[in-house]
Amino acid sequence: MSYDCEIIAVGSELLTPHRLDTNSLFLTAELNRLGFQVRRKHVIGDEPQALTQTIAGCWDRGFLTVVTGGLGPTEDDLTRECAAAALGVELRRDCEQERWLRERFQSRGYAVTQRNLKQADVLSGAELLPNPNGSAPGQWLVSENRKQERRLLVLLPGPPGELKPMVEAELMPRLGRLVPATALVTETLRIAGLAESEVDERSAPVYKRFPRVETTILASLPGEIELYFRASAPTEAEARAQAHEVAALVAAELGNAVYSHNGELLEQIAGHLLLGRGQTLATAESCTGGIIASRMTHCAGASQYYLGGLVTYANSAKRELAGVGEETLERYGAVSGECARELAEGVRQRFHADWGISVTGIAGPSGGSEEKPVGTVYFGLSGSAGVQTWMRQFHGNRERIQRLAAAHALNALRLRLLEETSR
Ligand code: ATP
Ligand code: MG
Repeated sequence: MSYDCEIIAVGSELLTPHRLDTNSLFLTAELNRLGFQVRRKHVIGDEPQALTQTIAGCWDRGFLTVVTGGLGPTEDDLTRECAAAALGVELRRDCEQERWLRERFQSRGYAVTQRNLKQADVLSGAELLPNPNGSAPGQWLVSENRKQERRLLVLLPGPPGELKPMVEAELMPRLGRLVPATALVTETLRIAGLAESEVDERSAPVYKRFPRVETTILASLPGEIELYFRASAPTEAEARAQAHEVAALVAAELGNAVYSHNGELLEQIAGHLLLGRGQTLATAESCTGGIIASRMTHCAGASQYYLGGLVTYANSAKRELAGVGEETLERYGAVSGECARELAEGVRQRFHADWGISVTGIAGPSGGSEEKPVGTVYFGLSGSAGVQTWMRQFHGNRERIQRLAAAHALNALRLRLLEETSR
């Protein structure tokens, strides 16, 4: 059982390029824990008509409506008035809140104005949610809409530093008492080496058989896809079992392309595989400029299996640091399988590692040719049994090509280690 919820973020600043509604992200995570599903989100400027209409629409549609922002004392803070109009209830001044506001202002040496006292206006029938971090209290109103359906409206302050403590201390405990316990569980699969469309094409026939589990596909990092499976049930164990069933079936369908279940990163998985085999890695990066090294060292304890890397960007660095032959560079160029081979082997020997990875390519925007267009990247993977090289063509801007190439190299290492381990 899940409860439908809509979130309305109020404030004209949220419609500019300078401010983003982040409150709804925090709220969504909190609400999901109690089994609430966010069905729609709205961002509304300080326009009374639009806000009133939006609140009225939410109140008709689903159980819970949460409004954030517009509870301040200024002219454009109109959430209370609009909520009253949308629900057709009165606003009344709360004496105790008024006293609290007057004291708060006096103790700070300010004169209290009628505008400030607006913050003591309460929707008829609503409970106030105390705000120890600001002057505007939140509001909680349980009532019925015109179709006699039970509804809940919650008004929260806009500043995240006021909203978050209020949600934790006031809203969550009240919601927990109002609705039967529901657990919402999400399982995640992370996938590398497949396009988003291919992941969907292969997994949809499986997940579509389970309409109660909500499946979402997200292209997260360049070259990596995430699949989320969300299930809700009275207990966490039941929800977990439902989500897990679909995740496991989809994972079986996608095979080796799935690199982790529930959150580990590609570099962590590659690290575990190296550690499990007691082996080490060194890297020589040209066009990725150290992204692979950075990702490998992202994991604590990486020194046990990642020895280090070279950023061999200029030809002189390829020659002098990784031992690439002068004639190789002249004959085939830096962006070539031959160069990738010598880089991978050179760095492996230089670091006395079990594995050496190399990446050399054209990240653009300039430097491409007809024969080797922008996005052409050569890879080398050197191990005790020899060096393997291959080429991939990536598309996108410079940063995207660099990130795609780094993810591809890490994934190639992972697949090779899996292959070796299963031998
Ligand atoms: P105040 O008393 O500060 O006026 P308020 O409840 O009226 O409180 P707003 O005026 O709507 O809140 O917002 C105050 C500030 O809080 C905004 O300038 C913005 O920085 C931040 N804020 C408001 N809404 C959001 C949101 N949805 N996500 C992130 N930040 C927000
Ligand atoms: Mg305000």
